[in-house]
Amino acid sequence: MKTEAAYQKCIRPTCGAEFAVRETLFACPKCGDLLDVKYRWDKLDRPTNLAWFERRWAERRDPLALSGVWRFRELLPFAGRDEIITLGEGQTILQTADRVAEYAKIRPGRFHLQYEGLNPSGSFKDNGMTAAFTHARLVGARRAACASTGNTSASMAVYAAANPAISGLVFVGSGKIAYGKLSQALDYGVRTLQLVGDFDACMARVKEVAARFGIYLMNSVNPFRLEGQKAIMFRVLEALNWEVPDWIVVPGGNLGNSSSFGKAFAELLELGLIKKVPRLAVINAAGADTLYRLVNDEGLRWNGGAVDDAKIDRFYAAMDAAGRRAKTLASAIEINRPVNLKKCLRALDLMCGVVERVTDQEILDAKAQVGRGGLGCEPASAASVAGTRKLVERGLIDPAERVVCILTGHLLKDPTATVAYHTKTDAELAETYAPYGVRAAAFANRPIVVEDNMDAIIKAMEE
Ligand SMILES: *Cc1c(COP(=O)(O)O)cnc(C)c1O
Ligand SMILES: [Zn+2]
Repeated sequence: MKTEAAYQKCIRPTCGAEFAVRETLFACPKCGDLLDVKYRWDKLDRPTNLAWFERRWAERRDPLALSGVWRFRELLPFAGRDEIITLGEGQTILQTADRVAEYAKIRPGRFHLQYEGLNPSGSFKDNGMTAAFTHARLVGARRAACASTGNTSASMAVYAAANPAISGLVFVGSGKIAYGKLSQALDYGVRTLQLVGDFDACMARVKEVAARFGIYLMNSVNPFRLEGQKAIMFRVLEALNWEVPDWIVVPGGNLGNSSSFGKAFAELLELGLIKKVPRLAVINAAGADTLYRLVNDEGLRWNGGAVDDAKIDRFYAAMDAAGRRAKTLASAIEINRPVNLKKCLRALDLMCGVVERVTDQEILDAKAQVGRGGLGCEPASAASVAGTRKLVERGLIDPAERVVCILTGHLLKDPTATVAYHTKTDAELAETYAPYGVRAAAFANRPIVVEDNMDAIIKAMEE
């Protein structure tokens, strides 16, 4: 692989500054905008059709063929074979989920769940982390840091633990981090700073620390993370026998995933490996709906790269003035200022995308349905299923269309929300989650308290 064929480029067309792949940059030094990883494809070995990747299935003893990210390495060719850091991430499945399809109002056989909870740290973040750690090694980084609502820190902690040459530093906010995620950061031994503040405060501080001490930044402003996350789409296509579905539905937080999906399809088109792109639906939590408001209420668009920055600035100023802060039980998408906003607008433009928002009540109900369907996910992930249902109700998705929802994180990430939903009475739930507008658990599977005698047990078994 020839690394000189890869480079970094500012996403703002009027700037377009280019930088070497071995530079450590997390924003354009000229204009401050986001950077892309770009490739001079004509200089690279590349497949002429997607089925070409199937030969890797026979080479699974090779860690780079086993990895669900790196077996597509010709589509993210920024590092040499020996530079790649992998933990066998991306061994995930696309399940045809008929039980959940019924809830999502999609025809049987047409609804699929891409279960990214099966990754080493239990969320899709590992797809990006393997690529970012690879780049960190490429540039000789010794320390890496991230701010996190939980899963980024869990993922970084796993990769740092497996690669002692790069030590990790995690910033988490206070209060909101789910126990599954916090326990991972702590157990994997990463230095964890629990900041008195929310995610946005963590993000601002980690950027400051990274700039001041030359620490490698592992947040999704890092364009190399997005390169790895493209592989989620490659695996979806692989599972569908290289057929493009009608819709990809994904929860939106910092918008790294949606952005990387757009880039994946843009490049597959450019390379002539697909003929059409799916439509994209990004689902916000109603309590963290910056993207929804900017796109649907303010009419913000990619506009060929000439994004209306003044409109974004005004929106954030008004948000701050009104004291409006993101608030949702789906902590992984509890974000005020999504860092990949512009790249997401670009993805929405390419994929004829839509943005929907769902309440925490809808999220928890959809989550229980996903669990009953046999996979299980954390609250943020279920936004994709709740969003699909809503988009079908609104007539935007046709029930006969083929829909793929990304289940971004594992059920065990947030046991508190799950146990509360299944064990509390509706009145208790409404009280506990009053600030989130959750009133009832329509699909609760309540444990049955039973006396320690056979008659009572038999009665409880059959009720
Ligand atoms: C990070 C995360 C999200 C949000 O993804 P973005 O790429 O930031 O939009 C959604 N769900 C889970 C489980 C996550 O960990
Ligand atoms: Zn620039």
